Amino acid sequence: MMMLSDQTTAIQGIGEKKAEELMSMGIHSVQDLLEYLPYRYEDYQLKDLADIAHDEKATIEGKVHTEPSLRYFPKKKSRLSFRMLVGKYLITAVIFNRPFLKNQISLGQTITVTGKWDRNKMTLTVSDVHFGTFSEDHKIEPVYSLKGQMHGKMMRKIMAQAFGQYRGQIPEPLPEYLRNTYRLPGKEEALKMMHFPVDFKQLKAGRRRLAYEELLFFQLKMQIFRKWNRQQSEGASIVFDRSKLDSFIEGLPFQLTDAQARVVNEILKDLSENSRMNRLLQGDVGSGKTVVAAIALYAAVTGGKQGALMVPTEILAEQHFTSLKELFAPYGITVALLTSSVKGKLRKETLNLLSQGDIQIMVGTHALIQDEVNFHNLGLVITDEQHRFGVNQRRVLREKGASPDVLFMTATPIPRTLAISAFGDMDVSTIDVMPAGRKPIITHWAKHGMLDQVLDFMKKEILSGRQAYVICPLIEESEKVDVQNAIDVHAQLSLYFQEYQVGLMHGRLHSAEKDEVMRQFASNTCQILVSTTVVEVGVNVPNATVMIIYDAERFGLSQLHQLRGRVGRGSDQSYCVLIADPKTEEGQERMRIMTETTNGFELSEKDLELRGPGDFFGNKQSGLPEFKVADLIHDYRILETARNDAQKLVNSDEFWKGEMYAPIREFLESRGILDKERLD
Ligand code: ADP
Ligand code: MG
Repeated sequence: MMMLSDQTTAIQGIGEKKAEELMSMGIHSVQDLLEYLPYRYEDYQLKDLADIAHDEKATIEGKVHTEPSLRYFPKKKSRLSFRMLVGKYLITAVIFNRPFLKNQISLGQTITVTGKWDRNKMTLTVSDVHFGTFSEDHKIEPVYSLKGQMHGKMMRKIMAQAFGQYRGQIPEPLPEYLRNTYRLPGKEEALKMMHFPVDFKQLKAGRRRLAYEELLFFQLKMQIFRKWNRQQSEGASIVFDRSKLDSFIEGLPFQLTDAQARVVNEILKDLSENSRMNRLLQGDVGSGKTVVAAIALYAAVTGGKQGALMVPTEILAEQHFTSLKELFAPYGITVALLTSSVKGKLRKETLNLLSQGDIQIMVGTHALIQDEVNFHNLGLVITDEQHRFGVNQRRVLREKGASPDVLFMTATPIPRTLAISAFGDMDVSTIDVMPAGRKPIITHWAKHGMLDQVLDFMKKEILSGRQAYVICPLIEESEKVDVQNAIDVHAQLSLYFQEYQVGLMHGRLHSAEKDEVMRQFASNTCQILVSTTVVEVGVNVPNATVMIIYDAERFGLSQLHQLRGRVGRGSDQSYCVLIADPKTEEGQERMRIMTETTNGFELSEKDLELRGPGDFFGNKQSGLPEFKVADLIHDYRILETARNDAQKLVNSDEFWKGEMYAPIREFLESRGILDKERLD
């Protein structure tokens, strides 16, 4: 009895040696082989000369018009050339280093040649020759990624043999009604379309089917996690004090925007419910997430729990610590700070108080997730700028409490396709309105040569009492060079702005020094802050209205947007100047986009388009899975469909019990996805 789990040696023509080579490519079973998809296709479909672009690779058919002439060069190199009649045109065909073909090509013969087309010289540099008219069903040739002695032709032969031997045996996981709804070919059919495509239309149909299946399974996994996560309920309910909370909100210096009020309610509902909160809060820079976090933390504290706020940098931790301490002082709540700079006796004391429950709100960096940190009764964890934290770090922090509610905050609006893929297991709250009275930041793009005008402009703003940030070039390879750059720019600006104070901020300063610089800038003791990108997140000085970014082309759109978000935080008109001479089209495009929109959501979609999903988060731990077939950008419609279908399925009894879904369940089970023990 033949099974897909058979070793590849079960396929005729595969012996130990070939099997080993396949194994080195990760192919162990027949099933692995059938699912080993080509990574691209060679297009041998005949083309009209007129449709072929200069330098394009193409296949054409014609008649040999002159006897081939052969010339030899040193080192056994050779050049064979002849004229060919293609339709009405006479072209030249050139074949290098295959002298033996001379005897096989004769006058008047029909041949098909593939190669690179030089439109100006009407010459094709041939890489493949087929004699006679090219056979109909081989015009699109799959190209596999191969290792060792394995070559394309052999791989294609093995595939054909395998599909012949195992015909009808590839299981169909998708129920018929889904295939009918979306007019998807069956699994076996789709795989064949990928391995032996007759035309590109078919290839597309096969690909679409496999992409849907892949995304559906992925979304099922996310939705199942989400369901179970919510069901884990021990002690997750926080009974907060609504009237205390209301008076806290009343006491704020401003009224919440509608969007803030809405997300506060979404969060409070999660807190009060028995299920564990797993929520993403996204809102553009300056949309007012911090106060939402503060309200949530206060709610946890009134319910007798501890709250934690974790942020990516020390500066940000210190800033949040300071503002929360101030905010909570009238309410008798103890807020503490834990970063790697908190050392010695103070650290010991802090850890002690924390484990005894005498600290109610803990603000910190990664230091919060070290082993030595023990909470007394952790009920809520909030992480700011969560995309900077790896998946594992999120997990560790979550494990610090019995089952704390978790809120992730991000100011990098996440494009929808990424939100439902990377964060498909989470609920999402969005602050989509800015506090009233904000003026959109005016953004200019200036070449380096215009630096003088830029500085003059800056001077005018400072004369009228405003402050400015100057962000220095970022040279990724070396922090040392970054720091030196900042020091140089600081020296230059100190000369230019002699009557003002120019501050300097970079990653090499001790935290006390950073603190001092920030304090001076916040109190307008210093008017200009020269800095590396350490000020990127969170820093809040409403009187600063100018943001100058040197070498702006080195930054991604999202990062530029973050930096720009440091200004425009008060009611005055703010400006951002990008100093850049981008060399690439893409770089120029980025500068243009920045000057055209201040909407973070729009920018993030553009960023994703320009950079692709892998680079979007800037690190490998983004939690984005790798897909075999699907592509998150181009397949976003399929992704959305799959997400809706998965949601419906997971919430129906049929899915968990019905016969029709047995193949899906089996598949999920085989990947350990239905195993509750492995949850999260
Ligand atoms: P972000 O979402 O970038 O973290 P912040 O929470 O730092 O934004 O808020 C930006 C600024 O807006 C802060 O100075 C904050 O005090 C102020 N702010 C927040 N909410 C409101 C509001 N509803 N009305 C007016 N100002 C607000
Ligand atoms: Mg913030």
